[in-house]
Amino acid sequence: MSNKMIAVSACLAGFNCRYSGDNHELESIVRLVKEGKALPLCPEQLGGLPTPRDSAEITPKQTVLTAKGEDYTEAFVRGAHETLRLCKLFDCQTAILKAKSPSCGSGQIYDGTFSKTIIAGDGITARLLKENGITVMTENEFE
Ligand code: SF4
Repeated sequence: MSNKMIAVSACLAGFNCRYSGDNHELESIVRLVKEGKALPLCPEQLGGLPTPRDSAEITPKQTVLTAKGEDYTEAFVRGAHETLRLCKLFDCQTAILKAKSPSCGSGQIYDGTFSKTIIAGDGITARLLKENGITVMTENEFE
């Protein structure tokens, strides 16, 4: 990994930004932030969504819906672009993002049926970062 700043999912750094209002803190990620090597970002908050919020999944039509059918697509796309903007500003070439999230997931996401079924795919933010040449890995791949 280069010496450049690394973008990390804020929930991995201990921020209570998850839909449920809690976090997925990992000591190794917190350490990176404390050492000034990582920039914590939450795409869903950057997209303007409240916390806590309803959980959402990406549908086969590439919309992002909650289980109640509320359409979060616009906020997720806005958050992805704001995340990319920050990655460019801080010259992040690598991102360590929370696995399976509809924003941050990389390689695996839920299938949009809220049945805990995993399929191959990327979250909205992870995909945009990859399309812009940023290396994205999950916290599991990092550890
Ligand atoms: Fe964590 Fe990403 Fe979800 Fe924000 S959008 S809570 S950073 S997984």
